[in-house]
Amino acid sequence: MEKWRVTYSLLKYSSNFDRRSNYSFTSGVRYFYGRSYIPFNKKFRGNVNGASGSLPSVNGNSYAVQLRYLASVASTTQRNPDFSQINMDDISYFKKILGERGVVQDEEKLDDANTDWMRKYKGSSKLMLQPRTTEEVSQILKYCNSRCLAVVPQGGNTGLVGGSVPVFDEVIINVGSMNNILSFDKVSGILVCEAGCILENLISFLDNQGFIMPLDLGAKGSCQIGGNVSTNAGGLRLIRYGSLHGSVLGLEAVLANGTVLDMLASLRKDNTGYDLKHLFIGSEGSLGIVTKVSILTPPKLSSVNLAFLACEDYASCQKLLLEAKRKLGEILSAFEFLDVNAMNLVLKHLDGLRDPLSSMHNFYVLIETTGSMESHDKEKLEAFLLQSMDSGLVTDGVLAQDINQTSSFWHIREGVPEALMKAGAVYKYDLSLPPEKMYELVEEMRTRLGSAANVVAYGHLGDGNLHLNISAPQYTDSILSKIEPFVYEWTSKHRGSISAEHGLGLMKADKIHYSKSPESVQLMAEIKKLIDPNRILNPYKVLPSSVLSQS
Ligand code: FAD
Repeated sequence: MEKWRVTYSLLKYSSNFDRRSNYSFTSGVRYFYGRSYIPFNKKFRGNVNGASGSLPSVNGNSYAVQLRYLASVASTTQRNPDFSQINMDDISYFKKILGERGVVQDEEKLDDANTDWMRKYKGSSKLMLQPRTTEEVSQILKYCNSRCLAVVPQGGNTGLVGGSVPVFDEVIINVGSMNNILSFDKVSGILVCEAGCILENLISFLDNQGFIMPLDLGAKGSCQIGGNVSTNAGGLRLIRYGSLHGSVLGLEAVLANGTVLDMLASLRKDNTGYDLKHLFIGSEGSLGIVTKVSILTPPKLSSVNLAFLACEDYASCQKLLLEAKRKLGEILSAFEFLDVNAMNLVLKHLDGLRDPLSSMHNFYVLIETTGSMESHDKEKLEAFLLQSMDSGLVTDGVLAQDINQTSSFWHIREGVPEALMKAGAVYKYDLSLPPEKMYELVEEMRTRLGSAANVVAYGHLGDGNLHLNISAPQYTDSILSKIEPFVYEWTSKHRGSISAEHGLGLMKADKIHYSKSPESVQLMAEIKKLIDPNRILNPYKVLPSSVLSQS
């Protein structure tokens, strides 16, 4: 108790400010942990955690590609022989509709676009197209469909399941040049924008208008809203504002045959027939290219507080969550956790970060509150923290008292993926599980792997979302065989989801049955066939090829 009081009185509440947003916008400084991901990718070129020099590519004779050494993809993928290969006539056509600027053949740029953020997956596309209008997207797809040229829609390329890069020579279509904000209505809070807008730019724009995005994630400096919608990204604010299935009011998408589907409603209520936009939210570019998005944004509230807390055991983290929901109620805006292994990695690999607490603990929890009345919010949070300390749920903690502290506390949590990348090979799993079961899996995994790997856990505890990461010096079959299929079977047995937010991509396309019934998967395959009969959109991803070829 004494310890808490000491720390607590050292770090008194700060004056009224939006700690997270102001750092990014008022100061004009970008989140260190946002934009930094692009150079990070480049920095690690040529050193792909053991996979270097042997990444798969299409060669003239054989289209079989062995992804064995690329962590979780322990299977052989065959290039679909129905797909054509790019020729000079195709290039001429694309130049005619997009101009020279929109047709990228430069090797270095293509190398970046062919490689995913984790540098686990690499395609060998020879062409990236950068349309500037929906009409151009439509013309591209119509042409590709008629020629049976496979395409991969790409946003900020921050996806973590190999969905955003080609597997073979698919044409990359990146809508990053379509980055205009089309309208913003201050009364309703409805923002309409093009799909290529970078999330952080939207956050910044809204901040100036006195609003916030209902979505926030560590990759905000690079990911695009079209990518966010296509992955149904979750992130740090889901506990408060819900999923994109709730906040996306409408969208525009282009189908494989070039048809533009205008579903860009800006209405909160619309029950006329099937709500087709939901098919595109989370379908990872397999049903169409999202070109515009209409999204409901909440007003920015003036009082934001962030506590960085320590718990002795996982049971305390869970109880703390329950108490936070009960006692903080409407002001709770984030509840994130990381274990000591994650904390150690961050402190070891990220420059300039220090532990806000005086000693190491088994678990750490970040609790953010957002409300409109500073005195009320303070009183609530203060009472909650003192009770949690008294009851022993929290053993130590600090409250951010200025923008720098807020930023560095968030950086600890948001920096875990980057720290993992720096530590070596990483096997990533993004699971939805009943919160009471989550950490059992982590412990079982530690027993299975022993000293062969470092099992790291963090995630959005408030949403029942565990990021289970297994860090090792390099990718090996022996480690992989201890992880899979165990991790999927365990999740399935506890009626969890093998993808809470990252999607299935290439990594888990043939694992969908662990979370969905055969009937559901079959219906998905039939929908795919109806909308994209030639299967040109993001092939080899999301659904198992075996099911697609049967339907
Ligand atoms: P990409 O990676 O380019 O693409 C992702 C998928 O969407 C691909 O299948 C692609 O084909 C498709 N796609 C992209 N744009 C379009 C489009 N316009 N139309 C149709 N399909 C498209 N994810 C979370 O959910 N929550 C997190 O908290 C989170 N944190 C992250 C932290 C870090 C450090 C990193 C690197 C990633 C994180 N992610 C998180 C994963 C990733 O950032 C999200 O999935 C994000 O939404 C991807 O957006 P993107 O623009 O980068 O899409």
